[in-house]
Amino acid sequence: MRVLLAQPRGFCAGVVRAIDIVERSLEKFGAPVYVRHEIVHNRHVVETLKAKGAVFVEELSEIPDGAVTIFSAHGVAQSVVDEAAARGLPVLDATCPLVAKVHSQGKRYAARGRALVLIGHAGHPEVEGTLGQIDGPVHLVSSAEEVARLDLPDDLPLAYITQTTLSVDDTRGVIAALRARFPGIEGPDVSDICYATQNRQVAVRELCTVVELLLVVGSRNSSNSNRLREIGVEQGVPSHLIADGSELDPAWLAGVGTVGLTAGASAPEELVLDVLAALRRLGEVEVAAMTGIQENIEFRLPAELRTSSPATF
Ligand code: SF4
Repeated sequence: MRVLLAQPRGFCAGVVRAIDIVERSLEKFGAPVYVRHEIVHNRHVVETLKAKGAVFVEELSEIPDGAVTIFSAHGVAQSVVDEAAARGLPVLDATCPLVAKVHSQGKRYAARGRALVLIGHAGHPEVEGTLGQIDGPVHLVSSAEEVARLDLPDDLPLAYITQTTLSVDDTRGVIAALRARFPGIEGPDVSDICYATQNRQVAVRELCTVVELLLVVGSRNSSNSNRLREIGVEQGVPSHLIADGSELDPAWLAGVGTVGLTAGASAPEELVLDVLAALRRLGEVEVAAMTGIQENIEFRLPAELRTSSPATF
């Protein structure tokens, strides 16, 4: 069997930064540190950090007074920031800078008197955070059909922003529907979909032209991982999202000569290696990597965690 690895795959700069923030906080301030929501959507990452002393909670009310508090990479609503400030919690914000950029963009449009349309998936923590960052009306849509159903006058001053981890193609369709219905709408030229999501989608599309089965390593609640699997399905390739090698079903491999393997932006490379090990247990495997975009983006850590800063807030 031949296995082709997508390039790029796995961790993005926002995920690396978020995990670094938890690890360095543990080193600098000692355990426990409290993380609101899964720092990134990957069970393996969360369990590893838990073993080092991180405590994951869903609400600030679960965090004791004075405890080091970390916001996840997905971002939080302004009400969460305000609640933490009112309690005097020492906060480290692991919100990805590219999510924070969408917040700022949305605030700018709202300040200019435009109602906002957010293209995204209801219930995702990034969407909850973005909705809660903007002071003013925000209408959530996820498809062109939902644009048609928006109960808004066609001449309302509007702007759109998007979740960072959507399907590039689907989002293009939603933006076209918005522009057709609201010709005066403002928004980013393409979308706010981040470089990592776009690069992984381009790579998987290319991979799908040469493989008979696609395996995407990632957690069920990882938005960008789900989008990668959907691209495989759209390309007519049987595609499965698996957390690690233990979820590999040998029946998927019947008659398959070439397997494509990729990983969502929150999935560590060690889980890709775990899937390769599981494939090797089923037979001889020859591994090759696609040529693709080399990423060299890095985001700075918060000032409190840079090596020169004191071990206090
Ligand atoms: Fe940031 Fe994109 Fe990574 Fe999300 S997927 S953490 S927006 S770089």
